[in-house]
Amino acid sequence: MSRILFKGSGKSFPVGKILCLGRNYVAHAKEMGADIPNLPVVFLKPATALIHGSENVIIPPISSEGHHEVEMVVVIGQQAKNVRQEEAYSHVSGYAVGLDMTLRDIQAEAKKKGLPWTIAKGFDTSAPISYAVERSNVSNPHQLQLSLKVNGDLRQESNTSNMIFKIDFLVSYLSSIFTLEPGDLIFTGTPEGIGPVRSGDVLEAELEAVGSLRVGVINQPTFASS
Ligand code: MG
Repeated sequence: MSRILFKGSGKSFPVGKILCLGRNYVAHAKEMGADIPNLPVVFLKPATALIHGSENVIIPPISSEGHHEVEMVVVIGQQAKNVRQEEAYSHVSGYAVGLDMTLRDIQAEAKKKGLPWTIAKGFDTSAPISYAVERSNVSNPHQLQLSLKVNGDLRQESNTSNMIFKIDFLVSYLSSIFTLEPGDLIFTGTPEGIGPVRSGDVLEAELEAVGSLRVGVINQPTFASS
């Protein structure tokens, strides 16, 4: 069972459900040719999607177009059901930086056919995350620089102030639908600059006041028939 690890303290949670936001930055919605949503676009990744720094994202053989999406991640620390926006932060334990790795070719096909994104978004290794830091160490989670480098080249750079739906709203909204539990994660959406990754690439994500995450990329070879 994968765990969410806190920097320095030894604190950890077994990972629960991974809730992810689509189109939560205007410039990213535009680059996808998508409308700005009135309500959050939400999808799930299974707990088996989680990996940590120094591990590898493994692109399964069904896809030839893995994409990076750098995102701020909210770690739930206390059960939340139908919580008001004003009390939302008391259910947040901390923050991490993560990657919502996406099989863009599979997702595009699913979108065209009106089918779910489960494979495109939920494959093993699709949710790398950094160590988490305590909420009390981050004075304003909506004033943090967020960036991603691929092989040292800057590809994504924005600020969490650009998020359309903010953390207190997201916790309240999601808790009206799902019971949020300690160890659940909310991937809060990616800014613009998404793009393809190749086998051998090194991805370095960084979130101000939170930390960084470094993972590799490997294309899983097609199964050999026996
Ligand atoms: Mg995303």
